[in-house]
Amino acid sequence: MVAKVPKKENAPDKNGENGGQKKKPGFNPLALVIALFILAIFHNMLNSMNSAGGLSYNEFVDQIKLGNVEEVEISDVFIRGQFKQNSPPTNEQGRKFNLVKVEDENLVPLLAANKVKFKGVIENTWLKDILFAWVIPLGILFLLWSFVLKRFSPGSGIMGIGKSRAKLAAQKDIKVTFKDVAGIDEARGELEELVEFLKTPERFKRLGGKIPRGVLLVGAPGTGKTLLAKALAGEAGVPFYSISGSDFIEMFVGVGASRVRDLFASAKKSAPCIVFIDEIDSIGRARSVGVAGTHEEREQTLNQLLAEMDGFEPNQGVIVVAATNRPEILDPALLRPGRFDRHISIAKPDIKGRHKILEVHTKAVSLDPDVNLEVVAQRTAGFVGADLANIVNEAALLAGRKGKLKVGMQEFEVAIDRVIAGLEMKSKVMTKKEKEITAYHESGHAIVAMNVKHADPVHKVSIIPRGIGALGFTLQLPTEDRNMMTLSELLDRLAVLLGGRIAEKIVFNEISTGAENDLKRATEIAKSMVKDYGMSERMGLVTYERDRRPMFLDPGMQLGSSKDYSEATAREIDLEIKSILDDTEKRVFELLKDKRDQLNALATRLLEKEVVEKDEITQLIYPPRDTIATL
Ligand code: ADP
Ligand code: ZN
Repeated sequence: MVAKVPKKENAPDKNGENGGQKKKPGFNPLALVIALFILAIFHNMLNSMNSAGGLSYNEFVDQIKLGNVEEVEISDVFIRGQFKQNSPPTNEQGRKFNLVKVEDENLVPLLAANKVKFKGVIENTWLKDILFAWVIPLGILFLLWSFVLKRFSPGSGIMGIGKSRAKLAAQKDIKVTFKDVAGIDEARGELEELVEFLKTPERFKRLGGKIPRGVLLVGAPGTGKTLLAKALAGEAGVPFYSISGSDFIEMFVGVGASRVRDLFASAKKSAPCIVFIDEIDSIGRARSVGVAGTHEEREQTLNQLLAEMDGFEPNQGVIVVAATNRPEILDPALLRPGRFDRHISIAKPDIKGRHKILEVHTKAVSLDPDVNLEVVAQRTAGFVGADLANIVNEAALLAGRKGKLKVGMQEFEVAIDRVIAGLEMKSKVMTKKEKEITAYHESGHAIVAMNVKHADPVHKVSIIPRGIGALGFTLQLPTEDRNMMTLSELLDRLAVLLGGRIAEKIVFNEISTGAENDLKRATEIAKSMVKDYGMSERMGLVTYERDRRPMFLDPGMQLGSSKDYSEATAREIDLEIKSILDDTEKRVFELLKDKRDQLNALATRLLEKEVVEKDEITQLIYPPRDTIATL
């Protein structure tokens, strides 16, 4: 739905902990120590071999006899020494030499006879002995052993290999509370209900109340899903188990499932508690999706998760909170009653929400009086909580770098630009011009909807960018359930759809690409009116079969056309569709020109507030009588 904003890593984690549960394994400190040790020893040996020239025993004896040797040290295993200064046989390493000792009872008398200084030394070999005899073999054994364990006996429990990583990260004293969560009040409200239950599960057990087992948090990355789950645990004072869906997925079959089993086993032991599963879509993807055979591991993990969730009593005190930003790909089995049956969606915060989030994050920052958080909130349309936390952090860092004692507005400006520049490629942040166009476009839809007879009332207009391609939206809610529509209703619906584009044309005398989806939908409706509903007088009451779409193939693929009418008719149909759209365009053009002041008023308000609700729109469009009188 929404492009991923990978800002999470940089976001200041106010809560100070991430539990470390997201770290990837594969690094063994012991192995590193051993490797370094071996390296050091080899380095030493090579050094001592190379720093002095090697010599054969024969040569050595010859040199003694020639009187070229100044002094030698004799150990159990080798002989080190030095030639005399200016003696001819110096090799490229200088005067030093060494060689392996040979049993030779004549050596000492020979040395004495030639007046060579000599002494015996005790070679320090215990270190090497221990190393080669014990440490290295044991180290290798250990590495092999742990490798084998990791790969082939998942969940065997030895030394925690294959055990759920969530267990290691279970956090007891969570400091985060709902006070730290701002700007997403609805979602917060829904979770607040659960606090009482977690605090005193007995009370609910006695009353026999039904408590949800699973809560699914749906929202773009960085909107505060993890934060909310943690706040729930913190508020209730219960342990927090957290694991990411992608952690479950391992190379070998069976590990994921055993992790789930272990996770729930330890969660049940410390109930009441929260189990938080981030990125549940990575295990919970619909089982039929994808090529057969490659998803066995994920399927097993998912099945285990479903079994665990069915396995515990609803009142046992374990609440599973899962987070995703792609609810549409989840396996329906996960969403069935008794599993994740409560869904809480977290929208990107509006301007007020952003203001509140900024307040939370600047609490511990000393701000210059010139900082106006409202202006910061205004400038950050489309930002989520994590982005805002990031801005505050950046601004504080900037001020620190400048040696300032307080963070000023200037730092905030720079920080916003920085975060925007960082975001641009990943998600939508609109330029001022785009925002204006979007405001008029959405106002166009809304004003048409408010002024035609048969359109559904406008509930909300927003220019907070959402997802890919949608810069804003106008939400109309039907007043009643519909089973059919009349011709005039369809025509008015067409008018509302075209309203956006025509408003752009009127105001900017230019059109943008932003209306593509509107036009597609309008064309679809007009087509249906002509071909399916017999609503065109010229074409009459005949229905014209549409091209059949292949059912199981990509909708883009056409399996040959199954038209049962002539090319001439096809042309007429096209003309008729076009004439419906043209007539509607004319009508909307007149209407919006006539209501230009309404259009301006709503667009201006949208630019200020980003989201305008029903009541306010009504007020803008139909001002109360007394205000008109005073004008
Ligand atoms: P998600 O899990 O939805 O990707 P997180 O909960 O990890 O997002 O949010 C990351 C950080 O962003 C949080 O630790 C917090 O500092 C900040 N944040 C996000 N949303 C909010 C919010 N609504 N109020 C306050 N801080 C927020
Ligand atoms: Zn539109």
